[in-house]
Amino acid sequence: MLEPIKLNSDEVYIKATIGAATYPSDGKNARALIYCAEIALINSNEHIEVTYYDDEMQSSSERNLKLEAELHHAIENNELEQCYQPIVDLKSKKIVGIEALLRWKKNGCYIPPAQFIPMVEEIGLMPAFHLWSINSIEAALTQWSAITHPFHVSINISPKLFFSTNFSNKLIELSATHANKVRIAIEVTEGCLIEDMKRGVEILTMLNKKGIQTTIDDFGTGLSSFSYLKNLPATTIKIDKSFIDELASNKKSHAIVHSIIQLAKNIGMTVVAEGVESQTQLDILTQLDCDSIQGFILYQPMLGDEFYQVYLENTDAKA
Ligand code: C2E
Ligand code: MG
Ligand code: MG
Repeated sequence: MLEPIKLNSDEVYIKATIGAATYPSDGKNARALIYCAEIALINSNEHIEVTYYDDEMQSSSERNLKLEAELHHAIENNELEQCYQPIVDLKSKKIVGIEALLRWKKNGCYIPPAQFIPMVEEIGLMPAFHLWSINSIEAALTQWSAITHPFHVSINISPKLFFSTNFSNKLIELSATHANKVRIAIEVTEGCLIEDMKRGVEILTMLNKKGIQTTIDDFGTGLSSFSYLKNLPATTIKIDKSFIDELASNKKSHAIVHSIIQLAKNIGMTVVAEGVESQTQLDILTQLDCDSIQGFILYQPMLGDEFYQVYLENTDAKA
């Protein structure tokens, strides 16, 4: 468990990640060992404190370098696709929103967002990718004439972009243009906010005043304390898929999901369960009075045209 350090009135968490190499199997001199330890560090993740080098990392690092180089041309080569996954109200069974999810199709194969999004962030391309997404969403909303309230479009914002100065201008413009039929919401994770809670609250409050809502994504997986919920102008909590996966099989997960739903309701927030795959999970969430769900049991992420057809059928709206 990480112990916070007090800095004036703020609590700061410090984490260390270590890449390690073993003598003599990974290298017979300091230079070779440091090189392997650096590769291990690149391949480490935030949940593991010490990552040891293995030969597979070398080839995966080379693969990643190649992908990073290719990402620079993804937009000009028309390799990005904007997908949308419906969010459904559990009582009315109506689609009440969508999450915008990016896809990168390289040589006919989809590279998973969990792999390429951190790279986009790392190599500084996120502002360009974000702009591409906003422009696609803008074009789609202009076409989807039958969409009406209540309907929101949720857009994921990665941590570096969130704290950069002008990511919000385009969002505010998008929100203002389509305010008559949709709300724009941004999805941020607890991990993103914990970097600088004070500024995070300032940014979200400013956006809130412009009509942009906030969803806390992957709720329950960060290290933050509950007290931050008090200060955030957030409207929605998204329960992380890891809790939903174990909803039927693990009593503790069931209790946690139950408590999150109660907590959200008690503080006036809406709650969405993410990653719902089975009828049993759906039944339990209905029983627990969860507001809405997003998951493969109802809909997978899909391209805009397909989504609009699904929306028209689900809501009996006329195009
Ligand atoms: P996320 O924001 O938590 O998005 C939800 C992820 O859960 C999506 O994965 C969605 O396809 C997946 N999902 C939803 N329901 C189910 C289900 O029933 N079963 C399973 N197995 N998965 C389900 P996806 O599209 O692969 O995206 C992964 C992550 O990549 C997202 O997690 C988000 O953090 C990031 N991401 C995707 N698109 C964007 C984007 O445009 N911008 C940014 N900054 N991040 C993005
Ligand atoms: Mg999300
Ligand atoms: Mg999520």
